[in-house]
Amino acid sequence: AKDRGKNNYQLFTPSMNQDAMHRLTMEYQIRQGLENNEFILYYQPRMDLALNKVVSSEALVRWQRDGNRLTMPGDFIPIAEESGLILPLGEWILKKAISQALAWQDQGLKGLKVSVNISSRQFQQKGLANMVAQTLTETGLDPRLLELEITETTMMMDLEKAQRVMEALGRMGVGFAVDDFGMGYSSLYYLKNLPIDCLKIDQSFIRDLSTDPNDTAIVDAIISLCRTLRIHSVAEGVETREQAKYLRQKGCEQIQGYLLGRPMPYHELREMVVNGIKP
Ligand code: C2E
Ligand code: CA
Ligand code: CA
Ligand code: CA
Repeated sequence: AKDRGKNNYQLFTPSMNQDAMHRLTMEYQIRQGLENNEFILYYQPRMDLALNKVVSSEALVRWQRDGNRLTMPGDFIPIAEESGLILPLGEWILKKAISQALAWQDQGLKGLKVSVNISSRQFQQKGLANMVAQTLTETGLDPRLLELEITETTMMMDLEKAQRVMEALGRMGVGFAVDDFGMGYSSLYYLKNLPIDCLKIDQSFIRDLSTDPNDTAIVDAIISLCRTLRIHSVAEGVETREQAKYLRQKGCEQIQGYLLGRPMPYHELREMVVNGIKP
């Protein structure tokens, strides 16, 4: 810091200080939040376009602090990731989602799958495969009902490690989806060499699907790539009937997005599956 007389000992500018303070406060509050059970999972439906049926849902974390206000993951996942708190938080999320999927099976929603987001740091964590395997064994959930969503960036950080983890869990029946496909290093190498079941086409390509010829071309290419490689295709961020119609016509297998529903509490998702949807 500049020499400012009495204050020349200060290490941080006021704005850096504020930023660091914010992060420290958040870290502390996330830790408290974990202890006080303030995190909840919402579920967003994923529909199979051929069956016209909700076949799966994605677990999305929310933080319910002070009363009813929900804090969104964008406001705390990055800090949880940086501080390492994503490890206990991520473990809680996995276990919660697995027990929810199990409850759905018991409530007559046989075959309804759950998808769980795995952050980079969590994926690199030693023992992740064991923790998942052990939770599946303890709960008795059919591993085929669990899918883990990982980004391209996460997989590319350490390909050998990714391969080991994915093969170990893949052998049990756990599925892997590439999240935000098209936004990272979309390498054909990993598509060929890792046990990937599903590509989730990033919502940025879906948004202007009907008006931007580049997006149309990219989406067409991804869908046909999936067909060739026998990988499931899912379009994210589908908001309009027009988008859904186009995707169906092109042979995209599944859609997810506000058109079907926003992320919702588990009981609302259950009702939706029971009652069926008419998109
Ligand atoms: P994501 O995994 O790509 O999740 C999809 C995000 O898009 C969700 O935001 C979802 O609410 C939103 N979305 C879904 N459909 C539509 C749509 O039709 N239009 C638009 N505009 N948005 C849509 P959300 O829940 O705020 O999550 C944001 C990100 O935070 C997620 O992106 C994921 O990267 C991260 N995240 C959320 N939950 C978890 C979690 O449990 N663990 C980890 N590690 N990360 C999570
Ligand atoms: Ca995701
Ligand atoms: Ca597999
Ligand atoms: Ca995504």
